[in-house]
Amino acid sequence: SRATRRLLVTGGAGFIGANFVHYWLQKHPDDIVVVLDALTYAGNRASLSSVESHPGFTFVHGDICNTSLVEELLLEYSLDTIVHFAAESHVDRSISGPDAFIETNIIGTHSLLKAAKKIWIDLPAADGLPPMGHRFHHVSTDEVYGTLEPNDPAFAETTAYAPNSPYSASKAASDHLVRAYHHTYGLQVTTSNCSNNYGPFHFPEKLIPLIVTNILHDRPIPVYGDGKQVRDWLYVEDHARGIELVLKKGQVGENYNIGGHNEWHNIEIVKLVCQLMDEQFAENKELSESYPSAKKASECRSRDLIRYVTDRPGHDRRYAIDALKSREELGYAPQESFESGIKKTVSWYLANADWWRPLVVR
Ligand code: NAD
Repeated sequence: SRATRRLLVTGGAGFIGANFVHYWLQKHPDDIVVVLDALTYAGNRASLSSVESHPGFTFVHGDICNTSLVEELLLEYSLDTIVHFAAESHVDRSISGPDAFIETNIIGTHSLLKAAKKIWIDLPAADGLPPMGHRFHHVSTDEVYGTLEPNDPAFAETTAYAPNSPYSASKAASDHLVRAYHHTYGLQVTTSNCSNNYGPFHFPEKLIPLIVTNILHDRPIPVYGDGKQVRDWLYVEDHARGIELVLKKGQVGENYNIGGHNEWHNIEIVKLVCQLMDEQFAENKELSESYPSAKKASECRSRDLIRYVTDRPGHDRRYAIDALKSREELGYAPQESFESGIKKTVSWYLANADWWRPLVVR
């Protein structure tokens, strides 16, 4: 592992990317971090405001599909590491409009791979030099493995890929391209496949912030189907820590599953967040004053807002991560308990309405 790194973080203005940048610059203040982000609906420069003044931080507004821009950035900042988060990430949007998922997740990932190969391998070779020391880390999802029955063993790195949504299919394709660039061209790649993340800076269309913000606006809380879908939830900082370990100790060419051993039915999460919100309304009178429409919610129980709606087409029933390899090879274990992580997350949304208010559709 190197003393300092010079990182290109794609999608750094998104949910996990922004949390990763905060984590990284706090732990590695002497490193260089260049964020490349197209600022789609999911990207938000405000999520990076606390690092804007860090001397090693640069923000570049641009598209990963622009291969020559990526090449210029790798050269200009002498970058040796790519941590690739940029993606279209919302499964529902992939069902109503898959094209953007093909463009960013597949073609965009390939554009980055081509740029990395050219700058780190081909240019030195043209001068008769060995490849530059480098790493391409690809951030992927457990959804590439498909769906599990209640008693199936959790997804291991050896589980066959069986993606079911346009989102997971596009991520699976990108994982395969990353793998191929290692085997064919010797690009130094690693991939992590992570379970559902939660925490600060999560776009309010996603489950946990959706529940919080809908309660604050006295709006119904939609729950797909019977609400019995199972997801394995990980606090976003534990994901950042997992990626750090893969960068430092992971074997080039390998995939690592990162997960929380923390399976919940969706409906249980909804009820838990409702309960935490009820407690907040009971403890904090200012909350009812700040959200007059939620006053009603403070007088009844938030869970009365739950409405079951038609299930998502092709909805995967259960995801669960077997993170044995990460534990044994990398010494990885999540540190945040679900109880404290979810409380921190709810409190963060209550304290940071300025961040999410512009993003909530009226
Ligand atoms: P997000 O949607 O919050 O953020 C994506 C970011 O990528 C945004 O800032 C967006 O502006 C940017 N972006 C999109 N298209 C781009 C393009 N063409 N060029 C440059 N930037 C572009 O996503 P997220 O939840 O932070 O997920 C980040 C990564 O982690 C994704 O690759 C996703 O597949 C993966 N992942 C997410 C989860 C999860 O629970 N959210 C779990 C496992 C893996």
